[in-house]
Amino acid sequence: MPATPSLVVAGLTPMTTLDFPDRLACVVFTQGCPLRCGYCHNPQMLPTKQPTTEPGEQTPNWQTIEAFLTSRRGLLEAVVFSGGEPTSQAALLPAVIQTQQLGFKVGLHTSGVNPSRLEKLLPYLDWVGLDIKAEPADYQRITGRPGVAKKAEKSLQLIQTAACNYQVRTTLHPQDFNLLGINNLLHWLAEKQVSKVALQIARAGQCLDPAYQTLEQPFLKSDLQAIVSQHQSSFSQLLLS
Ligand code: SF4
Repeated sequence: MPATPSLVVAGLTPMTTLDFPDRLACVVFTQGCPLRCGYCHNPQMLPTKQPTTEPGEQTPNWQTIEAFLTSRRGLLEAVVFSGGEPTSQAALLPAVIQTQQLGFKVGLHTSGVNPSRLEKLLPYLDWVGLDIKAEPADYQRITGRPGVAKKAEKSLQLIQTAACNYQVRTTLHPQDFNLLGINNLLHWLAEKQVSKVALQIARAGQCLDPAYQTLEQPFLKSDLQAIVSQHQSSFSQLLLS
């Protein structure tokens, strides 16, 4: 058993049927993310924080999560690490190993921004939800950080080489995409031999960038459905939600 991980946890969803394919799961949200997507709904999870063991602290620490998981053995089937960006923390690897040793399948939501850490995690992962933010030319504009496109592409390659079950997910916000941009992204993903893609229409509400909080010119669902129909044959799964 590895030493107790010092993973900084931002929250817990104790039960979900939506976050790991075909499995009853919980989601552990981790603190910290190096990206600054304008549509981010979890801005409170972006800053780096130190682990806390303060009594009365509202946010669970890893020991609390471990005790929760132990109590859910045989009830939940999978644990998904999400964020924030879980690979921002070196403590993710021992936490993932511990989770697997408790008998759970392990899923990861990631933007692929840390390919070297992802490579070490992959032997322990049963499923990855990889956020591909855009085609490479648009990455810096959408993530607010330089150099991310190459890292995300490397992470995609690593996942494909490892033959890990995965789905690419892209959030569509009208501040970031027009219909041509969505078409170009789907062409790019097909070229990269991605087979499962989920397009998620951005929601209004709390966002990191106030300009993203309202959808003044939302996409027409019929336009998006037409694009999906046009590209459907390029993927084994192309979802729009
Ligand atoms: S990668 Fe995710 S958590 Fe990080 S800023 Fe973007 S939307 Fe927020």
